[in-house]
Amino acid sequence: MPTVDYNIAILGAGPVGQALALLLARLVRDPARIALLAGDGGAGQPGAGQLGTARSAPTDDPRIIAINHGSRVLLESLQAWPARSAAIDHIHVSQRGRLGRTVITRDDFDVPALGNTVSYADLHARLQERVVASGITRLSGPPAAVDAQDAQAVHVRQGNAALRCAVAVRCDGAGGQDVKRDYSQHAVLTRASATLARPGWAWERFTREGPLALLPHPQMNGDYAVVWCCEPAHAAVVAQADDDAFSAALTEAFGTRLGRLRSTAPRQVFPLHLKARHAQAQGRVATIGNAAQTLHPVAGQGLNLGLRDAAQLAQALGPWLAAAQDGSPAALLADFAGTRLPDRLITAGITDLMPRAFATGLTPVEHACGLALLGLDLFASVRSPVARHFLQGLRN
Ligand SMILES: Cc1cc2nc3c(=O)[nH]c(=O)nc-3n(C[C@H](O)[C@H](O)[C@H](O)COP(=O)(O)OP(=O)(O)OC[C@H]3O[C@@H](n4cnc5c(N)ncnc54)[C@H](O)[C@@H]3O)c2cc1C
Repeated sequence: MPTVDYNIAILGAGPVGQALALLLARLVRDPARIALLAGDGGAGQPGAGQLGTARSAPTDDPRIIAINHGSRVLLESLQAWPARSAAIDHIHVSQRGRLGRTVITRDDFDVPALGNTVSYADLHARLQERVVASGITRLSGPPAAVDAQDAQAVHVRQGNAALRCAVAVRCDGAGGQDVKRDYSQHAVLTRASATLARPGWAWERFTREGPLALLPHPQMNGDYAVVWCCEPAHAAVVAQADDDAFSAALTEAFGTRLGRLRSTAPRQVFPLHLKARHAQAQGRVATIGNAAQTLHPVAGQGLNLGLRDAAQLAQALGPWLAAAQDGSPAALLADFAGTRLPDRLITAGITDLMPRAFATGLTPVEHACGLALLGLDLFASVRSPVARHFLQGLRN
């Protein structure tokens, strides 16, 4: 095969790109033949600070991420589990102002915890340490792009550097253009304490404006990470309110199950969209993680799904890597994309439906949603497959 600069170029060093690099490094003799292209851009440029753009600094990212059991096992196998995390043993799902709720509990499954929360920044830093230690080539610079591909190679550009690679994997978090939805919801992120805190419990409460999640905080024992999805105008108001007004509004939206909620931490607001592409493979180019599907954060599925993409892609490329990259990997990438489709469709479908179904404002629909929660609670045979999907997704 003609010479290439790298066997695999990974465009984007977010958690999915870094996890993929580490998974691939285990399969090759020379990890330096894998290039991880971090689009560090530069602070102060237009767009700086926006989540998931090439210019947002991971260390400043305020996201607290719920990692399911399957993803934790994967990250631990890469020795990339962050030092600080909080366990989720029970998940309480309810609807504000309507009857019906369901509780998913660790005891229903043979797992040490349903999931754990970690901060995006901690996870990113830990993965980066592992990448540096692994011998993978890490190239920092402006946003990278796939210029073209031909029968022999993919041509990748990062600033003035032009790279010839056998395979390129887009992990830039940019989502796709094939399926798009603007949820007219913005997420307000912050931290809160509760007068009646319940350790190990996570809460997902559907309001008419969007879901409100309280997750055990990985860095502040006993506090909650708040993801409050509401109408954009309302999000702007609550984000700018003083601490007393914000705490009162948060307690009003969540209800009194945890007593009074109090927040004095900074708040960040993020617009929420679904942005997905149909095809995850095109010739020698694959697309995974948020670059393939950017989801609504309800039920905390985006990164978990992206890590399953990464694990499956590494597995698919295994035989080609073992055969010293003999021949084109295009057929393997096409198989990979076909295998991933059911998991992507189910996860994107559920996370697209949930925030909209509960936010119609239509009484019959709200009752139906309440009944669905009640049904899930009463019948383990219905609850278990749904919970299991959120716990580990569809794997091959
Ligand atoms: C409010 C909120 C809460 C969430 N909660 C959860 C949760 O609880 N559980 C869960 O599983 N998921 C959650 N998610 C989703 C999760 O954050 C994403 O799915 C995850 O970060 C995707 O990782 P990624 O590596 O694919 O993309 P990203 O995290 O977006 O990383 C992409 C990286 O690529 C870089 N980049 C961009 N363009 C280029 C380029 N051209 N060249 C090179 N580099 C580039 C970016 O700077 C970034 O570092 C949440 C999302 C939001 C917004």
